[in-house]
Amino acid sequence: MIERPEKVLREVFGYDRFRHHQKEIIDTLIAGGDCLVLMPTGGGKSLCYQVPALVMDGTAVVVSPLIALMQDQVAALRQFGIDAGYLNSTQDFEERRDTLRRLSAGGLKLLYLSPERLLMPETLDLLHRHRISLFAIDEAHCVSQWGHDFRKEYRQLDCLPERFPDVPRIALTATADRRVRGEIVEHLHLKRARRFLHSFDRPNICYRVVDARNSREELWRFIETQHPGDAGIVYCLSRRRTEEVARWLTEKGRVALPYHAGMPDAERAENQHRFLHEEGVIVVATIAFGMGIDKPDVRFVAHLNLPKNLEAYYQETGRAGRDGLPASAWMSYSLGDVMTLGSFVESSDAAGSHKQVMQHKLRTLLGWCEITTCRRKALLAYFDEDMESDCGNCDNCLVPPEVLDSTQNARLALSCVYRTGQRFGVGYLINVLRGKADERMRRNGHDRLALSGTGTNLDERQWRNLFRQLIAAGMLVMDDAGHGSLLLDPSCRPLLRGEARFMQRMQQKPARGRSLPGSKTPTALAEGDHALFEALRGLRTDLAKAQNVPPYVIFHDATLIALATRKPKDIRDLVEIAGIGTGKQERYGQSVVDLIRGFP
Ligand code: ADP
Ligand code: ZN
Repeated sequence: MIERPEKVLREVFGYDRFRHHQKEIIDTLIAGGDCLVLMPTGGGKSLCYQVPALVMDGTAVVVSPLIALMQDQVAALRQFGIDAGYLNSTQDFEERRDTLRRLSAGGLKLLYLSPERLLMPETLDLLHRHRISLFAIDEAHCVSQWGHDFRKEYRQLDCLPERFPDVPRIALTATADRRVRGEIVEHLHLKRARRFLHSFDRPNICYRVVDARNSREELWRFIETQHPGDAGIVYCLSRRRTEEVARWLTEKGRVALPYHAGMPDAERAENQHRFLHEEGVIVVATIAFGMGIDKPDVRFVAHLNLPKNLEAYYQETGRAGRDGLPASAWMSYSLGDVMTLGSFVESSDAAGSHKQVMQHKLRTLLGWCEITTCRRKALLAYFDEDMESDCGNCDNCLVPPEVLDSTQNARLALSCVYRTGQRFGVGYLINVLRGKADERMRRNGHDRLALSGTGTNLDERQWRNLFRQLIAAGMLVMDDAGHGSLLLDPSCRPLLRGEARFMQRMQQKPARGRSLPGSKTPTALAEGDHALFEALRGLRTDLAKAQNVPPYVIFHDATLIALATRKPKDIRDLVEIAGIGTGKQERYGQSVVDLIRGFP
């Protein structure tokens, strides 16, 4: 019997209406057409093929690059009462036979496969012997060499239209890059597919950048005031630092675990498992952590070091708030970071043109850190997307930064670089400006320069801030030997000649202990409701433990919040709650209403 998509959405998944282009995508597939779907993380890509899979006859085949992702999706689907399975190398014989039996009996609605597995001749034969409703190619950017996760087997998926000409295909990705898009269309033969391009904005993520002298202390202030009990990811550059920061957060009373490529496999897997299965865990990781993490309730992503470029930043921060509830992207940023990354690029042995691209991307990132206007607008503009008005949910919108005309000081800083022969780093230059002569300076005769000691109007911190902004603006560049000496870039000439002005973004003094404006904790519930929410969270943990699945596959936080506010006391009222369909109503309805009824 064919069910209508709306009915499936309501009864199986427990949601009232389709989002964005979901409905059109679903209708296109059901009518036999191909689709290319570009939607940001958390946009709701999965339902685009899961709903048709339930409506159409046969089994939908989902190509997924990682075993962890498949297991997560299948576990989540089974919670909805959907017959889904996968075939992969981690299965034992029994499990595999069981999946194949359900496929043959025609009950299996979704089958998850890696591209390697799908392309094996015996798998292709197997699929030919069964009715396949559609092919969904998830993380389709893996087909692109320009992307960050190239997988060569993805290219061979171009055999599907020839081998299964009547089976509709849908390719999905959250990667915005135009070049990557082009490659998906070309290598997956999707020229005739309908394209659904959604805005890449993540409105629920609040972006913040702080100029931090002590980034660890600032991080703690942020976590303590904004996310006292929330799960989050902290990114660092080095392995040693991840361990040190994790230890430090643990001393502060949080559950914080390190994650990096140098750890023993078992320990790393254990830490990831705890992050997924326990509530409120913080993982302190190098960028190795993230791909394959589908946890929807990551409430914050913090960068203790600058990411490589804006693309990487967007991808890493995108792991926050997939469930659509408020989340934060926080980053600390200092002159030291800028110097480190700059000299990384300069002293790398990449080919000249590649180095230029890296240098350019770093400059763009620095520029974004220093802007005084809406961060979201600038971020989306970088991905070729226009936003009409400011977002109201980034640090610059919430507390517009002060801007000061620092033309005079900027000129002084540039002159100092020039007069000392473009051979010195920031510390030395600031000492010259502030007239703090030492032996080395005297030997160089720099204590006798006319500008020596003329910069006492600013303290050291203010000078560092100004130098950082001159580097970000591209007027000062790092030497290519990686010694940290600064050189003048020709673009500083108008400023030196008095034809241009320099506006400096002033650092705000953080107000100790007070929470930042615009902070919205998703669990901001009335006093009484909060206790019920916590009790429901406890119930969810117990249910999850009993089945060895992550808590979020039982209920998302949004569902718990709706339950805590509306307090349904009758099992039949549960279908009104978003995220509870008939499957979950049957499974957990009784325990939920019992808990709510027993609550004062
Ligand atoms: P993506 O794969 O695009 O990152 P998901 O498919 O995981 O996103 O969906 C993100 C979240 O949004 C999930 O919690 C999902 O259940 C929810 N969601 C998707 N579609 C809808 C909808 N139409 N109404 C309500 N919630 C939805
Ligand atoms: Zn903004």
